[in-house]
Amino acid sequence: MSEKSIFKRIIDKEIPADIVYEDDLCLAFRDLSPQAPTHVLVIPKKEIKSVATITDQDQALIGHLYLIIRNIARELGLGNGYRVVANCGAEGGQTVDHLHFHLLGGRQLKWPPG
Ligand code: 5GP
Repeated sequence: MSEKSIFKRIIDKEIPADIVYEDDLCLAFRDLSPQAPTHVLVIPKKEIKSVATITDQDQALIGHLYLIIRNIARELGLGNGYRVVANCGAEGGQTVDHLHFHLLGGRQLKWPPG
């Protein structure tokens, strides 16, 4: 069996995180290395590796994650806008193999990303 990812260990409360939201399906916590004044990671508790391995059965779960992202953005006062990013795979810059959405805000974000 493969080793637990760092995010699975956060879900299982084996390592601490600054949790901003939790329910039966998902967890949201502040990124350890924030790239903006607000930088939250929103993850499913189900072990999905990346956007590339989402299945048709996950449709409602992914919709739920986006509604939670919207709610967290409101609660954290990101009324002027924010960015939601999912890095996928090596060329996408993904470093943790557990699906996660970055919620970034609190400063003017640039485009295109590097
Ligand atoms: P990725 O590069 O895969 O899109 O994003 C992974 C993110 O997880 C990075 O922004 C990184 O800072 C964050 N990260 C990695 N390890 C930990 C950790 O142990 N705790 C928290 N809160 N964030 C982490």
